[in-house]
Amino acid sequence: MKIYIVDDDPGSQLILSTAVSDMGHEPVIEGTGESFMENFDLTQPSLVLLDWVLPGISGLDICNRLMSTDTDNYHYIILVSAKEKPEDIRQALDSGASDYITKGAAMMEMKARIGVGIRTIVLERERSELRLQLRKLARTDSFTGLLNHTVILDELTLELKRSEREGSFTGVLMIDIDNFKAVNDTYGHIIGDQVIARFAAVLRENSRPYDRIGRYGGDEFIMILPRSDSESCFSIAERMRRKTMDLEMDDLVMGLAITCSIGTCTSDHKLKFSSALVAAADNALYRAKEGGRNRTVSCRS
Ligand code: GH3
Ligand code: MG
Repeated sequence: MKIYIVDDDPGSQLILSTAVSDMGHEPVIEGTGESFMENFDLTQPSLVLLDWVLPGISGLDICNRLMSTDTDNYHYIILVSAKEKPEDIRQALDSGASDYITKGAAMMEMKARIGVGIRTIVLERERSELRLQLRKLARTDSFTGLLNHTVILDELTLELKRSEREGSFTGVLMIDIDNFKAVNDTYGHIIGDQVIARFAAVLRENSRPYDRIGRYGGDEFIMILPRSDSESCFSIAERMRRKTMDLEMDDLVMGLAITCSIGTCTSDHKLKFSSALVAAADNALYRAKEGGRNRTVSCRS
């Protein structure tokens, strides 16, 4: 791990960098608080041994500044100083330092405190990784990996606001597998599950990076197409429909094939609310089913 040493005194730099190297980590020396802060966003330091008294901006100022800055980068700062009065230590810790060590401390203590910092950072990284995973889990339909019902509708609301500001249109596709019940009834639910997962992959693989796809429920899916007018919505829907027809699943069941029906609608139909847009696309989907399935129908303006 890179451990930053912010100190202007060559003697202290040597002692601290020796401690860091002895522990198998990489010391990075910054001679002034200014240079440390200038590079802060770029280097994203996690463990810092920071001298209190520095020319220019002091270590204490840096602690105060970082404490009041909203940053995603977790940092553990050990303030290093010759000051050893209890009120100095209190001031340092109140200013955001994670720990405090006096310059005269024995090498053994210094290393032990650096060790605590390293353990804390490792735990913090694990916590942050778990938080990300949890957030992802809460947003996705675990079975297909697509966005879940609630999230895709929230995304649509956000996208509609964004497109209104930008003066562009947002398209919605409601996509439903045709006669899917027959797949379950004929081949069983386990095969049915796999068909749903493969179909979801077709939607994902053939979408653009900024499109959003969600599982609306069961065998029904929803795609949000930013910056898409009715025509491009229709052609994207048709591409999805053809890719679905091309989907080979011989490894599941020889000759197994599916089709889907799609209803499309865009916000250029003066539909500003996500619920209205979804209802209109759903209505178009209903007409696609009624019209014989395996087709795309656009909503009526
Ligand atoms: P239509 O063409 O009108 O859409 O007919 P359909 O048979 O696809 O529609 P219906 O709504 O009658 O049936 C959908 C079926 O999908 C019923 C439900 O049991 C099944 N289903 C929903 N979610 C899952 C799932 O996660 N796995 C499996 N295997 N089946 C599912
Ligand atoms: Mg269906």
